Amino acid sequence: LEPDEFRRQGHQLVDWVARYRTSLPSLHVRPKVVPGSVKAQLPRELPEQPSQALGDDLIALLNDVVVPSSLHWQHPGFFGYFPANASLLSLLGDIASGGIGAQGMLWSTSPAGTEIEQVLLDGLADALGLGREFTFAGGGGGSLQDSASSASLAALLAALQRSNPDWREHGVDGTETVYVTAETHSSLAKAVRVAGLGARALRIVPFTQGTLSMSADALADMLAKDTAAGKRPVMVCPTVGTTGTGAIDPVREVALAARTYEAWVHVDAAWAGVAALCPEFRWLLDGVNLVDSFCTDAHKWFYTAFDASFMWVRDARALPTALSITPEYLRNAATESGEVIDYRDWQVPLGRRMRALKIWSVVHGAGLEGLRESIRGHVAMANSLAGRIESESGFALATPPSLALVCLYLVDQEGRPDDAATKAAMEAVNAEGHSFLTHTSVNGHFAIRVAIGATTTLPDHIDTLWDSLCKAARQSGG
Ligand code: PLP
Repeated sequence: LEPDEFRRQGHQLVDWVARYRTSLPSLHVRPKVVPGSVKAQLPRELPEQPSQALGDDLIALLNDVVVPSSLHWQHPGFFGYFPANASLLSLLGDIASGGIGAQGMLWSTSPAGTEIEQVLLDGLADALGLGREFTFAGGGGGSLQDSASSASLAALLAALQRSNPDWREHGVDGTETVYVTAETHSSLAKAVRVAGLGARALRIVPFTQGTLSMSADALADMLAKDTAAGKRPVMVCPTVGTTGTGAIDPVREVALAARTYEAWVHVDAAWAGVAALCPEFRWLLDGVNLVDSFCTDAHKWFYTAFDASFMWVRDARALPTALSITPEYLRNAATESGEVIDYRDWQVPLGRRMRALKIWSVVHGAGLEGLRESIRGHVAMANSLAGRIESESGFALATPPSLALVCLYLVDQEGRPDDAATKAAMEAVNAEGHSFLTHTSVNGHFAIRVAIGATTTLPDHIDTLWDSLCKAARQSGG
């Protein structure tokens, strides 16, 4: 494709994206598809000859196959999982990143990408109140990972290296232990397996009574007992905003308990962390100045198109010490000068694209104040929904609302959770098409999660959802 023709077809495609985004409210959030129905629409033979009208072909594929068979994550009625906001602001940066097409494994392969990333991550560390120790100027630093899952794995690898400097040479020895709760994201269990520790290395710390948050006292007990039994606590992972219910582990107490055993503390704040941009939510990160690494996703509540996850470490040498391997073909004068960051040493893959441009677009396009306003709007909508749930018989909050996440169930006349009615209500709402909900389990009961956070969600969309939930409750006899 020559640049002039790219310009023509690219304009058509940008027009298409703008039209798609405008049309979202009129679409059903969840498609009516069955497994295999997409495959059935695609020719099995790949073309031998180049298309003469690729842009038109692509738009036809989007209209005929992709739109009718997609779950519309950018729909204002999308309340499932956590939002994966691909704001139009971030798309501008994403197009630019693809257009430049730089591969930023080393400073020397993408000086601009590397340094824009460093400046953004330093600025965001300040904006989130992480403390100077997480900035490059303070001896730490941040990087853009592809996901929170990768950040957890990278943190675990750095923790293994710090815990045993022999690890690079000899690997794990079977004494390593990692501490999470039953509500920790499954990516931690995966990281433990990928790192070769085996599932038995994963210790599940009990909750503080009556909550779904890690008990720092129970953690301290487990650490003492495990150490006495010859185990080596390598990492503790508190979560700020668990996936199921948005529970918040007490970072400060956890970090203090871990410190005695020199275990690495990695905070997984994949969804909730960005709320700390707002001074009134800074308390979420109380104690973060005591931890070793911290992650929050840009591709959730920071309005950035997949994929991008912020990860900060207190010690800028920690990840390279664990991960750096330098074959001859990567040697270069800038690296040897010691004056640059080579981000390949901060992640598992070698190559990386210029994710910094889409973050730049979001930060500059919305401004920190714009981001704060949007977060506050989502939290206000969650509080208003929670208020309606509390005052309506037949409904109950499954857990206290956490920021913009509300977990609820339908209850019987004695106020006991009614699993069947709750599930039926969720399915009824999803079938209507204007909203999309997913679920979790709270103390063994089926609970609906309402994760508010799409860039285009307005109070009206919450009203529609609530009316629909009430209708479903009436139909179930609640
Ligand atoms: N941690 C938490 C608390 C999450 O909620 C999620 C995803 O929802 C993840 C980690 C994994 O996120 P990612 O897709 O960025 O790996």
